[in-house]
Amino acid sequence: MQTVNTVETLREAVESLRRTGKIAFVPTMGALHEGHLTLVREAQKRADHVVVSIFVNPTQFGPNEDLDAYPRRMEEDSRLLDAEGTALLWAPDAAEMYPQGFATNISVSGVSEHFCGGARPGHFDGVATVVCKLFNQVRPDMALFGEKDWQQLAVIRRMARDLDLSRPHVDAIIGVPTVREADGLAMSSRNQYLSSEDRQAAATLPRAMRTAVAEILAGQPAEKALVTLETALLAAGFSSIDYASLADAQTLEVIDRPGSEPARLLVAARIGSTRLIDNVAVA
Ligand code: AMP
Repeated sequence: MQTVNTVETLREAVESLRRTGKIAFVPTMGALHEGHLTLVREAQKRADHVVVSIFVNPTQFGPNEDLDAYPRRMEEDSRLLDAEGTALLWAPDAAEMYPQGFATNISVSGVSEHFCGGARPGHFDGVATVVCKLFNQVRPDMALFGEKDWQQLAVIRRMARDLDLSRPHVDAIIGVPTVREADGLAMSSRNQYLSSEDRQAAATLPRAMRTAVAEILAGQPAEKALVTLETALLAAGFSSIDYASLADAQTLEVIDRPGSEPARLLVAARIGSTRLIDNVAVA
């Protein structure tokens, strides 16, 4: 695996890969776990070469968020990616990504306004801007993202459609189902912040979500099922719930019952100092 740290060396490396086949791209912030590695494996199946980026993007963190504390494990990540057969690791620093004078912002309205967008102002502007830059830097044939970050995937697809991106085309932005721990907790680089007591209690989140989905599918209004879910989370030791909503899976408009279009249950809740997010299909 080749590792590059500048846009110029990235371009050369990507051009040489492109001569021998299709490129699949997996953007990450590192501290890799099985969720990330599953994206890499899916990418291998679909393309000839896999390019992974590791960049802890400062502009998607709020002033009181965990940018400084966010886990950084470049050596171990690099070993894991090499073992998976990754062709190229793109690991710029913040000065390479945002050179002096950088002044552009991509803001996707509508789909980024509620849920994590409401709880983390500016977060999705940071995500959309850096992902657009990453796409233009790598110019991949396809890109893979986890459904774990459902709203992020919706924002990126909207951005790619609206800006007529061609590499990757919006139809080549692939969502990969969430990889979970044995007790159902969605894997996340932030799970390591949890104390062992909170880690155990955190499994209540996917359990309570499954119960809510069953209740909604049995005909209960979402509002009622979500009160039960919030009560279960607070009883298990969660300190607060940022949001717990049923929404149209594509537009992310809040709905009270599933209709003819796919629906998604989305939750963000805090336990200890950690904010966990999860989502599941209501089907
Ligand atoms: P991150 O490093 O958290 O920015 O995540 C990089 C990519 O990995 C994003 O597309 C995430 O949605 C995806 N990802 C993170 N956790 C999981 C998981 N548990 N299952 C599937 N994909 C995931």
